[in-house]
Amino acid sequence: MSSTAKRSAKEPNRGPEASKDLPEGEKPPSSRTKTPLLHEPGRAGYIPALRSAVGEEHWNDWRWQLQSRITTAEELGRVLPLSRSESVTLRKSLNTLRMAITPYYASLIDGKDPQCPIRKQAIPSLQETLIAPSDLLDPLHEDVDSPVPGLTHRYPDRCILLVTDQCGMYCRHCTRRRFAGQNDQARSPEQIDACMDYIARTPEIRDVLVTGGDPLTLSDDRLEAVLSRLRAIPTVEIIRIGTRIPVVLPMRITGELCAMLKKYHPLWINVQFNHPKELTPEAAGACAMLADAGIPLGNQSVLLKGINDCPYIFRDLNRRLLGMRVRPYYIYQCDLSRGIEHFRTAIGKGVEIIEYLRGHTSGLAVPTFVVDAPGGGGKIPVMPNYVLSSSDRKTVLRNFEGVLCVYSEPEDNRSRCLGSCKELCRRSAPEDREGIPRLFEGNALSIEPKELHRDRRRTKWRRDGE
Ligand SMILES: *Cc1c(COP(=O)(O)O)cnc(C)c1O
Ligand code: SF4
Repeated sequence: MSSTAKRSAKEPNRGPEASKDLPEGEKPPSSRTKTPLLHEPGRAGYIPALRSAVGEEHWNDWRWQLQSRITTAEELGRVLPLSRSESVTLRKSLNTLRMAITPYYASLIDGKDPQCPIRKQAIPSLQETLIAPSDLLDPLHEDVDSPVPGLTHRYPDRCILLVTDQCGMYCRHCTRRRFAGQNDQARSPEQIDACMDYIARTPEIRDVLVTGGDPLTLSDDRLEAVLSRLRAIPTVEIIRIGTRIPVVLPMRITGELCAMLKKYHPLWINVQFNHPKELTPEAAGACAMLADAGIPLGNQSVLLKGINDCPYIFRDLNRRLLGMRVRPYYIYQCDLSRGIEHFRTAIGKGVEIIEYLRGHTSGLAVPTFVVDAPGGGGKIPVMPNYVLSSSDRKTVLRNFEGVLCVYSEPEDNRSRCLGSCKELCRRSAPEDREGIPRLFEGNALSIEPKELHRDRRRTKWRRDGE
């Protein structure tokens, strides 16, 4: 978007009505006098004044929200009282990943709470400029596993397609920060063409995950161009969209968008709610519209220190998500991307969270906790141990309460090929049987790392013997 468009869209909010009600004039609404509920957004001060100044029509217009994003320390100073050192900090950390907070998402910040989970996801901190020894620019090797720019093909049957680097809001914990927000714009049609060509000539890809950046920052037309081209590829069975828009810009979910999306079923959408405070009536409304369009919704949270690293927060979040027809799908361990070490927890925290979910609440509210392997190994599920011991006749398990129980294996515990599965077996691609299945099917006796000292020693013996 051009800077003039940006300027003119913002002009109305710079009027005297909007700016006089600055933070020090922030009047606590009456509910503030009670103990604030966890889910009660701190909509006080500047943002409500801005909202009434621009009117509901602008406020509910996603393009206005996008154009009016808070991107500088000066703008942020209108929303929150910033000390001089805070604004210096902010300017420094903005060099690592741009800031852009929709007025809607900013309205959820509790200006009086320095620990506010919305604030921490949206506003840069000086810690982002610190690079830990273990930090990596591209920890998941998304660029290494990329046959053409904008596409990562890691798993046998699916790929991710990065259609834009623009997001509704730039999350301070973003793992793809080497890419997100670099240009704040959509990928060029030529590059999209190259990605489509790759997908079309790679028939084993049956699932394409459209992501970015955030694909829902594209206009309906541009997004439809991507979806319709994918649908035209006969080997693509399902399309998925990964987006944070329902969380940070719910007004983007319009009737027209839903009418367009439902033409491309089977289409799945995964969103990223990280904290119950994000589950506002607006966000719930956006999810309801998508669900009503027949789109199954999943949630992928990121485990973030000081934001949601608590089993009770996740229990509450996931239960409420089910109420919004959003199925918790993954909890991600925070990656080794640069400048986000302050958001990282121990892996054990994720295990603990699953411990508090499984059995304690609906199974539908229990996602898979995954560590995305540094070096491009993909997602590795990690969970509490439920199998305590086993013999050839019995397996000893423990349940969520810590009760030990024993399962007696059947006398005849061998499965036999049924014949009906033979055809499926014959048709499956060799890469489907890599790893453990290779060992199971007797196609290998062992799997060894590429560089093994034992191998080098053997080679040396052979050479010495010649
Ligand atoms: C996460 C991811 C996918 C999708 O993984 P699922 O487990 O199928 O949701 C695909 N490709 C890449 C590169 C990914 O990181
Ligand atoms: S929406 Fe996703 S890609 Fe964009 S900044 Fe947030 S985490 Fe990163």
